Amino acid sequence: MTTNSNRQWLLASRPAGEPSIDDFTLNEAPIPTPGDGEVLVRSHYLSLDPYMRGRMRDAKSYVPPVALGAVMGGGVVGEVIDSRDSALAAGDIVEGRLGWQEFGVLPATQLRRIDPDLAPISTALGILGMPGITAYFGLLDIGQPKAGETVVVSAASGAVGGVVGQIAKIKGCRAVGVVGGAAKADYIQAELGYDAAIDYKAGDRLGEAVAAACPDGVDVYFENVGGRVSDAILSHINLRARIPVCGLISQYNLERPEKGPRLTGLLLINRARMEGFIVFDYIKRYPEALAQLAGWLKEGRLKYREDIIDGFENMPRALIRLLRGENFGKQMVRVTGL
Ligand code: NDP
Repeated sequence: MTTNSNRQWLLASRPAGEPSIDDFTLNEAPIPTPGDGEVLVRSHYLSLDPYMRGRMRDAKSYVPPVALGAVMGGGVVGEVIDSRDSALAAGDIVEGRLGWQEFGVLPATQLRRIDPDLAPISTALGILGMPGITAYFGLLDIGQPKAGETVVVSAASGAVGGVVGQIAKIKGCRAVGVVGGAAKADYIQAELGYDAAIDYKAGDRLGEAVAAACPDGVDVYFENVGGRVSDAILSHINLRARIPVCGLISQYNLERPEKGPRLTGLLLINRARMEGFIVFDYIKRYPEALAQLAGWLKEGRLKYREDIIDGFENMPRALIRLLRGENFGKQMVRVTGL
């Protein structure tokens, strides 16, 4: 290391609506020193995730918000520079919640060692990380798909949705993806093996598009977006449909959630089940999901796409474009100049 400078992005203000660059401050701090049992990590890839918008808001949620003036939280893949724990050594590649900074310290127990021979290390933030695990448990545990059923997924080309559709296919289901734009619609069918794609930006006849793509109705709807996409799909659910509620990204930048049709009657008449979940509810079972996802990846049964922006200084811009839906694949930033 030639410099003792650690660049960090701090939360400067709580946005109303879409975040702007001015809601963040670029800070320089000394590189931290690990204590006993701790590890110093240099960031290589930083994850951008939709939940980060929620952490910028001072509102009740499943975890507290980021404090004003604090380093933005987030997942990182990096290299161990200095270890004060026998479980990890300098040069090891690890993943953990080190936040938006070039260097961070965490207890070794909060870091996951990554095998760089298994797959590119960036996958530890995507298909072999939190989004992949989310897809795995949300679909299999809550969605409980059975062969021959129709599984519909929104944000279907993304970090979570891309995996959901492919697992649905592995389980013998018909997979239908909802995406914004023709390029994403082509990709999920040609590359990921979805049976049909619905481009919700292609016109205002969404209900008809859902009916055409799902001639036997919808047995599982993996909810990633909410809003009018959600309304259109829920109108086509079958008896005993299951609806894992994973996320509602269309609502995250709104100060007040959109008003929509009241659809609970559809749950009633179809005896359907809608269930929210947060991935860390499954923390004890992460190894099971990671082993299965890695196995499928090795067998060539899972594909993935990453949307990587170079330069630590681009973190806020990368989050803003993710929240606009401009990403195509798992959004991350690579720290250049290593
Ligand atoms: P993605 O990689 O899917 O990126 C977000 C995508 O959302 C965009 O590319 C865009 O795709 C789509 N989108 C749909 N509607 C909108 C809209 N109105 N504005 C902006 N984007 C829109 O992100 P992730 O896979 O990381 O996350 C997907 C969902 O899963 C999110 O709702 C997230 O909060 C949730 N999640 C939940 C977890 C949990 O524990 N419950 C854990 C991880 C993620 P398109 O162009 O196709 O519309």
